[in-house]
Amino acid sequence: MTLDVTDLQKTYPTGDEALKGVDLSIGGSETTAMIGPSGAGKSTFIRCINRLTEPTEGSIELDGTDLTALDDDGLREARRDIGMIFQEYNLVERLTVMENVLTGRLGYVSGWQAFRRSFPPDDVERAYEILERVGLGDMENKRVDELSGGQRQRVGIARAVIQQPTILLVDEPTSSLDPETSNTVMRLLTEIAAEREIPVLINIHEVDLATEYADRIVGLHDGEVVFDGPPDDLRDGA
Ligand code: ADP
Ligand code: ADP
Repeated sequence: MTLDVTDLQKTYPTGDEALKGVDLSIGGSETTAMIGPSGAGKSTFIRCINRLTEPTEGSIELDGTDLTALDDDGLREARRDIGMIFQEYNLVERLTVMENVLTGRLGYVSGWQAFRRSFPPDDVERAYEILERVGLGDMENKRVDELSGGQRQRVGIARAVIQQPTILLVDEPTSSLDPETSNTVMRLLTEIAAEREIPVLINIHEVDLATEYADRIVGLHDGEVVFDGPPDDLRDGA
């Protein structure tokens, strides 16, 4: 799987130029951390890739398919391949861990629709395996509003992974977590990239976590890439 982003620009209706022509290719089972101060454009970048935000200019190719050219049906199809993990988890509080994970099988729809559906036994079986993998093996019947932040984020990861995505996009996964839990979540994400042989792009403002866990660092500043290389080069240059 490769993602090729070319000349991505986003100007919001407010006039904010969040992205000023970003080029980025990721692939393999590499973990890429996108770092940069608040307002650099990291979140806009990830949101443009699956078109939660409409880019102003540029192309976004997932294995050769230009996502910017897709109609609604095409986009729905393409989004099944893109696993998204959010800072604030975006889980359905009143549903259980298992129900939240299973919503991942439906792509981007509300959890309530999932609640009313019954799922094939294979999906449930796979959900158990993934919950085990993320360390929530005995928590499937807990309601999400009973969980800690770290546990919620692991539910978010499980929900993305059950989609069997070909790429994972992760927006500030550790912002709401304490340092120890942040390390656990970062380690889990990099391990999943390796095990599933998919690229993972993680927006993160904590440089230490980025350099410790990522294979590659992309530095974004004012909507432009100002660094792209291995963590060691960043440490040497800093
Ligand atoms: P980061 O994720 O690096 O903090 P963002 O992508 O959230 O950066 O924001 C980049 C720039 O775009 C900022 O100047 C921000 O104020 C602006 N921005 C983000 N979202 C919107 C929006 N919905 N409307 C207008 N401006 C926005
Ligand atoms: P904002 O632009 O102020 O962040 P939104 O309502 O667009 O507000 O998004 C709120 C959060 O929900 C964001 O983290 C966004 O990435 C996420 N989000 C938006 N649309 C969807 C969707 N269809 N499915 C899942 N998460 C979404």
